[in-house]
Amino acid sequence: MTFLPARTERYVRAGLFLFLLVAVKEKESKLLSNAKEEEEFLFRCSFVSRQKNVKKIILSINLYFLKSSSIYIFAKNKKVSIRLSELQALAKRSETENKKFIVRLKKKHPKDIDIKVSAIHEKVFQNINCLDCANCCKSISPIITDKDIERISKYLKLRPSVFTEKYLHLDNDNDYVYNDTPCPFLDKENYCMIYSVRPKACSEYPHTDQSKFINLLNITVKNTYYCPAVYEIVERLKKEMNKL
Ligand code: SF4
Ligand code: SF4
Repeated sequence: MTFLPARTERYVRAGLFLFLLVAVKEKESKLLSNAKEEEEFLFRCSFVSRQKNVKKIILSINLYFLKSSSIYIFAKNKKVSIRLSELQALAKRSETENKKFIVRLKKKHPKDIDIKVSAIHEKVFQNINCLDCANCCKSISPIITDKDIERISKYLKLRPSVFTEKYLHLDNDNDYVYNDTPCPFLDKENYCMIYSVRPKACSEYPHTDQSKFINLLNITVKNTYYCPAVYEIVERLKKEMNKL
């Protein structure tokens, strides 16, 4: 922009920045449901930001969004992005349909349901890195059994009563759960600090590859609110079962 007088150039730069901020805001408030939209957004940003430093800023803002708020799931050549901030709204939108679906599924009770769900689970998790997400550890507590308490206390070199007092309380169903979310053992990089001795419920979460899936349908619908993988698994399962 060297052809413009200095002051005008400053105004143009300020305007450009404002435009970019609005574009980012727009992106933040909108669910980008596929890769094409994401690419278009990046293209728009790079088109308006010929200045190298602005490009850099936009790129880092995009990387921030890509890393921190979207979980990408690939289906054949199609990339589906699920933003964690939008997950609750998506799950709410699908809840009535999901509930009807599980009623139908319970009635039909297909013999191969475990095989089907497990295959979908495998495909979805091939493309999800839980370390980019950790939404389960951040939003819900596992049930912690007496065996879990024993094992974790030993690992932490605490007496079980001290561990219980410090970290747990009984919920409405009289099960021990963590006092707070996010989990006190989740570190800043989304790693579990007690991974090798974590509660059984954590190691089995989100239960979509467990046998007797038919008994886990209600909890699975609840988990669509917290786990983007479960949301995607249920969506794919509905499509697959509707073909039958
Ligand atoms: S114990 Fe580990 S896996 Fe379980 S909720 Fe906490 S951080 Fe997550
Ligand atoms: S299990 Fe689900 S909610 Fe938990 S980290 Fe993995 S994708 Fe996220």
